[in-house]
Amino acid sequence: MHRISRDQVVYSMNADNPPVLRVDSGSLIVFETADALSGQITSADDRLDTLDWGRVNPATGPVYVNDAQSGDVLAVTIKNIDIADIGVTVTGPGMGLLGDTMSQASRKVMSIRQDADGKDVVVFSDTLQLPLNKMVGVIGTAPAGGADILNGVPGLHGGNMDCKEVREGATILLPVNVPGALLALGDLHAAMADGEICVSGVEVAGTVTAQVKLLKGKSADTGTDASKSSNCLPLPMIINDTHVMTIAADESLDTAAEVAVRNMAHYLSCKHNFSPEEAAMLISLAGDVRICQLVNPKKTTRVELPRRYLGKEAQLY
Ligand code: CA
Ligand code: CA
Repeated sequence: MHRISRDQVVYSMNADNPPVLRVDSGSLIVFETADALSGQITSADDRLDTLDWGRVNPATGPVYVNDAQSGDVLAVTIKNIDIADIGVTVTGPGMGLLGDTMSQASRKVMSIRQDADGKDVVVFSDTLQLPLNKMVGVIGTAPAGGADILNGVPGLHGGNMDCKEVREGATILLPVNVPGALLALGDLHAAMADGEICVSGVEVAGTVTAQVKLLKGKSADTGTDASKSSNCLPLPMIINDTHVMTIAADESLDTAAEVAVRNMAHYLSCKHNFSPEEAAMLISLAGDVRICQLVNPKKTTRVELPRRYLGKEAQLY
């Protein structure tokens, strides 16, 4: 088992980040992760106004996967997420959808513990406890075309998707754009709802155990129009025990939703032989179009289709 400490981080994803670990396809890796504020606020005494914004959204890595080449798909299966027992949510003027309703920056430091029934909860207040939905906010590979993308921004390479389906048991399909792929991840949330409307989840440090596998030459990552590709996997995608999902990011929520839908249609036509008409109808009847988050420089959406409609024996990727 490989392990990367939480002081080995990047703040943006690009082809020039030196790898901190080299592994073969099939390897298990433990990523120790700092929270999205690099642990700058973990008690009621820590101040928001002196926060170093240059140290937000650290991602642990990057990992070089041997033999990964442009056009491959990197399948990352989240085996386990462990989180610390303290998390923080921040918001304030100019932050998120309700920033105009606030007069000052604010943060809530919350303990994460077991309730009387033994269930793990986030203690929101004396009277309110929230169930955990542990998830990974930032997970991505080096982007294509020599781009350098801050970890706060989602895109075709993954990045700050803030999708609550990036959780234990899910497999995230990401593009390989550069030799080795250069996978990095971080920004764990103890809880977050679709939208993430105040600009943060319950930001928390932790460890993520993930397995990486290469799917050679299978990427249909062609930007906004996967249908131009003869490959069937429009990236990023998520597959879990029950659903297959496409994810898209754009400044416009309308465009992000449309691209996620088009990507699902391409996947159904290309991989599962649906006609365009049948693909559209199936998505319309059974594929939920959902918002991941509304507050990053690009918004992210997903389409969730139950796997059972693809047949028990269907090869999903
Ligand atoms: Ca995030
Ligand atoms: Ca976050």
